[in-house]
Amino acid sequence: MITGSRHEATDRYAVMGHPVGHSRSPWIHAAFGRQYGIAISYEALDVPPEMFEAEVSAFLAAGGKGFNCTIPLKEAAFRRADVLTERALRAGAVNTMQSLADGALLGDNTDGHGLRADLEINLGISLEQARILILGAGGAARGIVAPLLERGPAALHIANRTAARALDLARVFDDLGPVTGGGMDAMDGEYDLILNATAASLSQALPPLGDGLLSREGVCYDLAYAATPTPFVIWGKEQGARISCDGLGMLVEQAALAFELWFRVLPTTQPVIEALRLSLAR
Ligand code: NAP
Repeated sequence: MITGSRHEATDRYAVMGHPVGHSRSPWIHAAFGRQYGIAISYEALDVPPEMFEAEVSAFLAAGGKGFNCTIPLKEAAFRRADVLTERALRAGAVNTMQSLADGALLGDNTDGHGLRADLEINLGISLEQARILILGAGGAARGIVAPLLERGPAALHIANRTAARALDLARVFDDLGPVTGGGMDAMDGEYDLILNATAASLSQALPPLGDGLLSREGVCYDLAYAATPTPFVIWGKEQGARISCDGLGMLVEQAALAFELWFRVLPTTQPVIEALRLSLAR
């Protein structure tokens, strides 16, 4: 039993998404629960966007204490939350909800800090003074910009297929640090860290990337993850990246931060990342 927990056997947790059958979150939270002797009830709920409000109410009425939201519900969750953490407010999206004692729903966003934990703690990458390139300007990109800028990079450039979205995103965060935006056809310069936050890997595609974008000893990181290397991870290796990896670590780290919000303890992530990698390969 964990210290300070008010966990009851009837408490329910879940991930809501559409589709959600592929989600590894139930597996990850069960593994975290075992670290603390909690038999967590955590299920994957397929929730079409138009059913979100009704499903949330039903879930809470049936003992729901917390839930994660994934594609395409993060913006709807942002609107549904009664109270928002600072990082959720910045991200404009919610991936973690907690039912508070007074019945209000707290919306948090652990994606960006999960990515940062994977980069800094698991991969040993320093972000301070790094030149960072983010590919993509969708929900995932929006969630990671602030936590990266907080570390004081030398530059952070966002490049997107639709240039206007990257420019807009840069404008939202330009009070936090040196962030710029533009189209993918106008990328130049050399970067120490290139993050692929596009949805291209989901269809086995590679964003249009020229040679010479990655610095010597640079790192490539695909937010998407898969059983086999994504086209972007392969591209990074071909470009001579010191590390070229996918976002499985981010997935586990963002889940660990959600677990911490609910149970007030931060699980050990490394063995869970390793076990999940093995289970993906099977
Ligand atoms: P999203 O909001 O739908 O945004 C998709 C982005 O990808 C947009 O910027 C879009 O450009 C771009 N894009 C789509 N197809 C492309 C292609 N073929 N070539 C170049 N750009 C393309 O999706 P999201 O929620 O940001 O998710 C993005 C990725 O992050 C997904 O792979 C998702 O699995 C991953 N993710 C991982 C984690 C994790 O924990 N590891 C967490 C969150 C997200 P336009 O604006 O021009 O359409």
